[in-house]
Amino acid sequence: MPIVGCPGDVETYVILFPIYGAIVLYAVYRLRRRFLGAAVLAASLFGLALLAWVDYSLGVWFTGRPPGVLFRLMLVVEAALLFPLGGYLWTVRRERIEVPCRACGYELLGLESSNPTCPECGLPCAAKVMPTPETITAVNATPAPSWDTPPRVVPAAA
Ligand SMILES: [Zn+2]
Repeated sequence: MPIVGCPGDVETYVILFPIYGAIVLYAVYRLRRRFLGAAVLAASLFGLALLAWVDYSLGVWFTGRPPGVLFRLMLVVEAALLFPLGGYLWTVRRERIEVPCRACGYELLGLESSNPTCPECGLPCAAKVMPTPETITAVNATPAPSWDTPPRVVPAAA
């Protein structure tokens, strides 16, 4: 059973379903407990619905009748798996953050610089606490890096 507009049968594309699911779930897990993670999950479900709609619309457009139900059924199954799995992964507690960003709390440990610009919010010298040799050794088993940017004393917000 071909997918309208795609060469080959729907079976050719079966491998794309677990790949799509794995990418989405990995992204949701990495972005868990953040708005962006929920947005990725919602967008992935919207993408599946969009694919079903495109397949159906093109089928009606080109052949004058609805295309086979198999592809849309697989999309429904994919969504039925992704929604609860992604929802669960999104709620998994984040591990303890050793070197949080002062502004957004993003984990800074393991970045090139020991007091880096936050990759999440762009704050320079973002480390709230200095990484101690113990935390660094515990987390990535590398020696403490030298401070390439001296920590700044930031006045409290008035
Ligand atoms: Zn930040």
